[in-house]
This record gives sequence, C-alpha cells and structure tokens, in this order.
Amino acid sequence: MDTAMLIGSRFEAGTETEEHILNPKTGETVLDLPEASLGQIDAAVDAAESAFKHWSQTTPGERSSYLLKIADAIEKDAAGFAALEALNCGKPINAVLNDEIPAIVDCYRFFAGAVRNLHGPVAGEYLPGHTSMIRRDAVGIVGSIAPWNYPLMMMAWKLAPAIAGGNTVVFKPSEQTPLTALKMAKLLSAILPEGVVNVILGRGESVGNALINHPKISMLSITGDVATGKKVLQAAAKTVKRTHLELGGKAPVIIFDDADIDAVVSGIRTFGYYNAGQDCTAACRIYADAKVYDKFVADLSSAVSSIKFNQADDTENEIGPLISKRQRDRVESFVARAGEHKHMEITTGGKTSGDKGFFYTPTVIAGATQEDEIVRREVFGPVVSVTRFTDVENAVTWANDSDYGLASSVWTKDISRGMKTAARLQYGCTWINTHFMLTNEMPHGGLKQSGYGKDMSVYALEDYTTVRHVMINHG
Ligand code: NAD
Repeated sequence: MDTAMLIGSRFEAGTETEEHILNPKTGETVLDLPEASLGQIDAAVDAAESAFKHWSQTTPGERSSYLLKIADAIEKDAAGFAALEALNCGKPINAVLNDEIPAIVDCYRFFAGAVRNLHGPVAGEYLPGHTSMIRRDAVGIVGSIAPWNYPLMMMAWKLAPAIAGGNTVVFKPSEQTPLTALKMAKLLSAILPEGVVNVILGRGESVGNALINHPKISMLSITGDVATGKKVLQAAAKTVKRTHLELGGKAPVIIFDDADIDAVVSGIRTFGYYNAGQDCTAACRIYADAKVYDKFVADLSSAVSSIKFNQADDTENEIGPLISKRQRDRVESFVARAGEHKHMEITTGGKTSGDKGFFYTPTVIAGATQEDEIVRREVFGPVVSVTRFTDVENAVTWANDSDYGLASSVWTKDISRGMKTAARLQYGCTWINTHFMLTNEMPHGGLKQSGYGKDMSVYALEDYTTVRHVMINHG
C-alpha cells in the first residue's frame, strides 16, 4: 500500500498528527497516516509553482497525451484501485469496479479530447488597425480539496480539467479517505513532469486551512460541506483567489399522478440509496401526488427493505456502510428526531445494523411535511422522506424552497409537463424520468448554497482557465 505524500518528485511521510484510517465495514484501523507540516505544504506549493512555468506553456496536444496515459494506467490497475477504494470507503467492490472506475477513466479521456477543442469568439479588427484575439490560459496553482464519498472520482473531476487547462495542483484528499489518492500519487509521478500534481495529507482545520490561506495559490477548488465552502470563500477574499465550490444537496423528486410508479420505485430504490445515500445528488426528498402516494409509499418501502448490504459475500452487496461512526450517529439522530413526530412514519429501516462497522438500514420516512427537518436538511445517509401533495403548484414551490440547488427530478409520462416543470426548478440539473445519471460531456454543479463550480464537461475547463484579450497594433 502506498503511504507517502507526493511533493515535487519526492515521496515523503507527513511529520505531524496521525490520523486513523478506518475500514468502515469493520470499524478497524487499516493504518495510521501522519499529516503534512506547514513546511511540507509550502514545499508542495513551491513545487507546483516551479512546475507551472513549463507546464502552462505546453501545448493542449501534449497535455492531452499525458491525460490519456493517466487514463490508461488507471484502467490497467482498475482492480487495485477498486480494492483500495472499497477498503477505505466500505463500498461494494462491484460498484467501484463497474460504476466508478470506468467513469473516472472516461473523465481523464474526456478532458484529453476537450482541451484540444476549445471554442471562443473570433479574432478580428474590432478597432481599425488593431487585431484582437481571445486566449484561454491557465489560472495558476490550484489548491484542490476533496470529500470522502467518492475519493478517486472527486480527484479525477478536480485534476483532469485543472491540468488539462495548464494549471498545476496541490491536492488534499479527505483525511478519512486518502488511500486511493496516495496510489494515484505514485501513478502520476511516473507519468507527469515533477510538481504538476502534488498530494498532501491532513485534516481540514490544519492542512486544508493552510492551503486555502496560502498566498501563492491562485484558485481553490473544493467539494464538501456548505460550512466548509463558506470558510473557503472567506479565505479566498484575502488575496482574491478564484473559487470553484461544489457543496451539498437535498435533491427534490416530483412524482406526478401519471408517472410509471414501478419505474419510479425502482429508480428511487437505486438513486436514493446508492453509496448508502452519501451522495449530494441522492434522490432523498420525494413529493408524491396524493393520487399515487399510498401505492408509492407501500411499494417503495417494500423495495427498499430488499436492498442488500452487510452480506459476507461482498459481490451481493448493493450498498455499503456509512463512512464513520460519527456519520452513522448523525444519520441515526436525524431519523430519531423525525420519529418523535406523530405525523411521520418510518415505514422501513430506522435502525443501525450489525455489531461491527458503520451500517445503517435503508430507511423510508412517510408523511413528512415541508417544515420538517428531514425535508430541509441534508442527511447524507440511506434515508428518503416522502411528502404528499395535492396541488402541483405546491410541489414545485416546495421543491424550490431549499437552501440547496444541486439536483432534482420529475417523473411523468407527459413529456410536456415534465419539460415545463424542469424549466421552473432552480437546480443545476433536472432529470426527467430518471435521476443521478451523469456523463462527462455534461456539467455537474449547483445553484444557491450548493455552490457554483461546474465539474465535468467543457464548463469545468472554462472554470479552470481564464479568458484573456491580446490586441496587436498594426502600427
Ligand atoms: P467536509 O466539508 O467536512 O470536508 C470536505 C473536505 O474539506 C475535506 O478534505 C476536509 O478535510 C476539507 N476541509 C474541512 N474543513 C476545512 C477547512 N476549514 N479548510 C479547508 N479545508 C477543509 O465535507 P465531507 O464531510 O468530507 O463531505 C460531505 C459533504 O460534501 C456533503 O455536504 C456533500 O453534500 C458534499 N459533496 C458535494 C458534492 C458536489 O458535487 N456538490 C459532491 C460530494 C460531496
């Protein structure tokens, strides 16, 4: 197992506080990893600064070929990466191997192609005797900070557009899930020039905080909690850094009376509980038309009670545990508080599972109303609330009535109704008759307190590059 951070071309261990890296399936410690010192953070930034001089001047074609090599190397070692991600996050091995790794490999390949195909306004004589042209150049050193729910994928979403755009990066994985980032450090150092990507370890309040306040860093990219995003903005204000924020979510799902209920049930069983609901787009806040509400709640509860987890044969598992005891306690307390209200009913789940690890039973809470905490706050666990509506206007108003604005979905057989509703939803993405589906060609990112950074797609490449005007005086 790779345990060293990458600073320039050097592999070294942190010298500060050790973090227990746990296996969430058992709660046991896999290993202890020390975090970076302030000197090591400075050294990583210096390495990125020195690499920027050359890397930012390479051609898109050159950078593209590096990205393709990274994609190939991950694909070649897919089993190794999947095993490590499954160990550190508790994910079912098949989910990592069959869903995540192909999407991660494709992310590097997508940006390898996209960076060679950027478009913009045409050069021309907008003032007589002067030719103007638009350039898209690198921003500088990017400080990238990732969460624990999809460690390797978040790393891909952050690294691929950043380095494709000619930036250099100092990357910090979540202190809870650093293992695949350390394996990537080894892979990247064998492919990329020294210092283009540096990987440092540590907690948010120490290493993360030093990174976001570092004067030499030009851009901060963070996926995490809204509260963390706000701290990043405050730090960024000091030296006016560019920010790319991907924060939480509380995705509404509107089910109209003409929806194919079997398809919705099957969809929510998957998209509400994938990754044990530790997903910012999870289909967790359902609004169901009163005409279909009873059947939907009964069918969903029955379907959710059949979700397989904590099986000895991991290939049978559909979801894993929560990432930590703290996260499971948090989920448990949300459900307990909901259960104290008479108008809500826990129709399935509602309890922890197993005597080791951090498992929580997939849960449906019916009868929730718009004011309830379970409808308003992000749980980030395998818990879905269902709210009844009789007036479509209410459903749309309630769906939009959230601090979050990342993802949403509408389920109906009437495509015109679906399109009209999609146009009114204030979310970075609205799916019609599906949920959760992502593709590297399309952007992922939010509105409101979900942040405004776009991951994947050419929009990410725009976020990680800056527009410049060059004008020539013909003399
Ligand atoms: P978190 O905000 O606690 O941590 C995210 C990262 O930020 C970690 O690497 C952490 O060390 C770092 N961090 C924490 N405090 C910091 C500080 N003061 N300064 C600098 N860095 C700091 O979030 P988490 O618990 O790891 O992840 C879960 C959250 O991420 C959820 O709210 C979820 O919705 C969100 N998320 C959003 C998306 C998206 O695309 N919008 C994707 C995945 C996760």
